[in-house]
Parts: sequence; structure tokens; C-alpha cells
Amino acid sequence: SFDVSAPWLNRVIERRGRQILRAVDDIDFDVPRGGCLSLVGESGCGKSTVARIVTGLYKPERGEMRFAPGNSGQPLTAQMIFQDPYASLNARWKVFDVIAEPLRELKLRSGKQAIRERVNELLEVVGLSATDGAKFPHEFSGGQRQRISIARALASEPEFLVCDEPTSALDVSVQAQILNLMRSLQDELGLTYLFISHDLSVVRHMSDRIAVMYLGRIVEEAPTEVLFARTRHPYTQLLLDTIPDVRNPHRDRPLKGGEVPSPLNPPSGCSFHPRCPFANDRCKQEKPGLIACDDGAVVACHRVEESGGLPAGETVSA
Ligand code: SF4
Ligand code: MG
Repeated sequence: SFDVSAPWLNRVIERRGRQILRAVDDIDFDVPRGGCLSLVGESGCGKSTVARIVTGLYKPERGEMRFAPGNSGQPLTAQMIFQDPYASLNARWKVFDVIAEPLRELKLRSGKQAIRERVNELLEVVGLSATDGAKFPHEFSGGQRQRISIARALASEPEFLVCDEPTSALDVSVQAQILNLMRSLQDELGLTYLFISHDLSVVRHMSDRIAVMYLGRIVEEAPTEVLFARTRHPYTQLLLDTIPDVRNPHRDRPLKGGEVPSPLNPPSGCSFHPRCPFANDRCKQEKPGLIACDDGAVVACHRVEESGGLPAGETVSA
């Protein structure tokens, strides 16, 4: 499990005097081997922080990261795929060298011929051709650049890919192509994904389970079909009610029900209460703990707890 605050927060803390800010608080999840867990939430909910901690880009200031049983406690070989492939690729390098670098660094291949063969193979795996290796990243479209960064990530033979909004900067039709590629790579190579997105519709067909984050906490986590069929947390419902804006699908945007409060001054009790249509006095005072429901969902909401773990409006039929 995670119990963390990330290094970049230190700078915020310095600027804001003595205020303590925790970006991520008691995050605990399992990603099944060969499966996909998605973390979903609005901008600023802490999902990217979790991604960066998992891949070692951030060190938790406090707390620890434990790996799921079955992983033999070995550190994961995790690779990260970012939202903006252009920023994560060295623009002055030819695509060939971008992909060859991890092969050389990690000594996975030696000798020019073996490296060339492997780079060509990786280009083919992501739907590019050997001749593309001689070009520079700027000669490609956004979708093709994301294919290049996937090839580069695969070069280091990771078990685990952490994908932070990998398709959010792409047009909808290109998004679908990249998501299809990622799914088929998962099947072929047995990859495990942690997939980060602000858009539930993007992760729906990728994920075995979905965890919804709000202000640094998981508020609902469930098998994908359960999350959609029996949505319990009012925030998850809010996310589902928001249809992505087709004219500007690229940005996290504020949802109905107000802006996200500052994590510097999180609301008391249930931190979602200022935006929740069902908030009552208990919600304002008492922080809801996660409760497990019998269909595999885990939810932090007093209302769900009071209804015996059932989604609002559902009753037990005799
Ligand atoms: Fe809404 Fe209360 Fe549930 Fe929080 S605990 S989501 S405020 S009903
Ligand atoms: Mg982010």
C-alpha cells in the first residue's frame, strides 16, 4: 500500500509556510498480473502522483510502497508512457536511437546487427516500419509518436506499464487505434497495466478494475462491469454523467457540481461533501472509511454504508 507525500509537494509546503499538503493518502490497490487497473479522477486528484511513485520517478517522502503478494517482493520493472510523447522523446535523436538506447543501456542486446534487428522488430510490433527508424520524432503524427514511445518502453522488456493519459492528447479516432494497440500488446506480451485517465469512457474497455480517486484518496474501486452497472459513489456518478466534450477532449476539465477544492485545505469529513447532492451533517464531520461490498466493489461513502453497501435506490429483494 502507499502512504505517501511526493517530493514536489515539499516546494509547495515551503511556499505555503507550515501547511501540510498530502497529494496521496493511504492509497492501496492490487494490480493483477497480466491485468489492467485504471485510476480515474479529475486533474489534481493525485493519480499522476501515484503513477510517478510506482515507476520510481517520485520517492514517497513518508510511508512505503508494497507490492502485491505473488510478486515475490521483487521490485517491478515498470516503464512509464506519458501523455505527451513529443516531450518524452529526445527530438534530436533519430527514432532508431530512441528505441535502441534502452537496449544498449540495459545490455539487452549487443552488437550492431542484434540491436538493429530488435529495433526493427519493436517498430513492427507497434505498427511502424523499419524505414521509420531513420526519421526524427517531429516527422510523425501524434499517434505515431505515441507508437514510438510505446516501442521505446517495450525495449526494456518491462513487466508493468504505467500509462499516464497516453491518449488524451490525440484525436478520438487515433485514440481508439492506440488503445487497441495497447490491448493487443497486453494479450501478446502478457503485460500488466496501470492506466491513468480522467475519462471513464477511455478506460472502460481497457480495465479489469477501476479505482476512482478524489483529492488523493480512492473513493470507489470495483470490477469494471460492476462500476458501470452498480455505480455507488456520488462522485463516480458525476464522472459518468459528464460526457467528454468532443470539441476539446484533450484537457481535464472541471465537472458539474463545482471546482475541485484545494488539497491545501481539504474539506472536513467526506472531502467530496461540498459537491455532493446527498451531503448531510454526518458527511461534513466524519470521514467515511472504505467498505467492501459483496460484488467486489469497495466504496467510501456514508450513504452507501447506511444502505448496506447497495447503490442508492437499490433494495434487497426477498
Ligand atoms: Fe456524499 Fe456523504 Fe457519500 Fe460523501 S459520504 S459522497 S458527502 S453522501
Ligand atoms: Mg495528470
